[in-house]
Amino acid sequence: MDFKQYITVVEDFPKEGIRFKDITTLMENGEIYKKAIDDMANFAKEKDVDVIVGPEARGFVVGCPISYALGIGFVPVRKAGKLPREVLEVDYGLEYGKDSLNIHKDAIKPGQNVLITDDLLATGGTIEATIKMVETLGGKVVGIAFMIELGYLDGRDKLKNYDVFSLVTY
Ligand code: IMP
Repeated sequence: MDFKQYITVVEDFPKEGIRFKDITTLMENGEIYKKAIDDMANFAKEKDVDVIVGPEARGFVVGCPISYALGIGFVPVRKAGKLPREVLEVDYGLEYGKDSLNIHKDAIKPGQNVLITDDLLATGGTIEATIKMVETLGGKVVGIAFMIELGYLDGRDKLKNYDVFSLVTY
């Protein structure tokens, strides 16, 4: 399946020089969105995953339907100030900016097998921060699944020690 034809490339968004990969056009097509999630869920099925962790907001778009397909839980990673209970906070750098991410401290139980999901791997900063949070809480990252990988940004170099799956690569 060629998922690329359903992803729109938007020039100069959100800043000049960035070629933004817009997955909303893929999500609008129910059949294709389902196929994309099914492929990612098949990767997850081989991993004995206990729980899925995904950063807001597009990590939810990908992670929640996989968690539903597998019948396992989903743990949100959010920007600072959004989660109501005690959090673990980690700073990270983005392809275009800097921020910090939070996770509920009790959301991952020590020894749990965790699948991390996001829509897109760019520099890998977001996922590196997410891995750090999962591992600090005692979880084991058994796989990381993306819809899109920007191969030219070498984000995968940061994830050498992990099993990384992506549906499409640019
Ligand atoms: P990274 O931390 O540099 O790997 O950036 C990945 C994060 O930035 C993901 O959470 C993406 O949602 C977002 N992102 C970066 N570039 C794009 C893009 O071209 N399209 C959609 N999201 C992007």
